[in-house]
Amino acid sequence: MYYIDPHIHMVSRTTDDYETLARMGCVGMSEPAFWAGFDRGSVDSFRDYFRQLTDFERRRAAQFGIQHFTWLCINAKEAENVSLSREVLAIIPEFLGLPGVLGIGEIGLNKNTRNEATVFLEHLELAVQHQQQILVHTPHLDDKYAGTRMILDMLCDDRRIERHRVLIDHVEEHTIRPALEQGFWAGMTLYPLTKCTPARAADMIEIYGPERLMVNSAGDWGPSKPTAVPDFIMEMRRRGHPESLIRRVVYDNPVRFFRQSAGFQFHAPDDTP
Ligand SMILES: [Zn+2]
Repeated sequence: MYYIDPHIHMVSRTTDDYETLARMGCVGMSEPAFWAGFDRGSVDSFRDYFRQLTDFERRRAAQFGIQHFTWLCINAKEAENVSLSREVLAIIPEFLGLPGVLGIGEIGLNKNTRNEATVFLEHLELAVQHQQQILVHTPHLDDKYAGTRMILDMLCDDRRIERHRVLIDHVEEHTIRPALEQGFWAGMTLYPLTKCTPARAADMIEIYGPERLMVNSAGDWGPSKPTAVPDFIMEMRRRGHPESLIRRVVYDNPVRFFRQSAGFQFHAPDDTP
């Protein structure tokens, strides 16, 4: 089955991983900007990173027939440095019109601090000014529920935000409902140790149905599994779910959501030329 991984950090993966993903049916992926494993010291570091995301990774993926898309921002971990964040926000528009750029992301909160909230709101302003879609990271640990609530409140307080163009990522059992109920898209991140497993994601599809839901692998610097979406496909098949439902979650939904972005020039693999 063809699938799209809507949230995977390929800069931290090897070229062999690209090959494995292609063999498993991955035809598209979207890579949000995030942490580099260390805090960057200057805005030039971010400019180079954005070049890597919009140019190099796109070409590396294309060698394996995978279409690569990306999102730009300064992530919540580094947003604690507000002055650096503002310098980064100022260069993002240089990249927004490039092919494959889907919007602003992954923005969000890490420790739910005042500085993180300030930088989150400034990203929202940038997205509104440039009519960009938004991809949101929700915090992972004990403060996940509180952080997700803070994020949803900030988004809902701004009437200019079109909720059907916002993806709330890393939802779990206690945060999925408010995200969906308020009209946002939601993503479940499948991880071997923390966050959500393929079985828990399948449970949530059984409870909530497939509307506005996706699954992703994250594939970041920590222990993570870039082939987690195929694991989800296998779990859904094991439970006897129809291929049409599985395809809806892993392929049709990402296409529907991303299509709202001008940078999503996607060629479906079964399109006749
Ligand atoms: Zn991420």
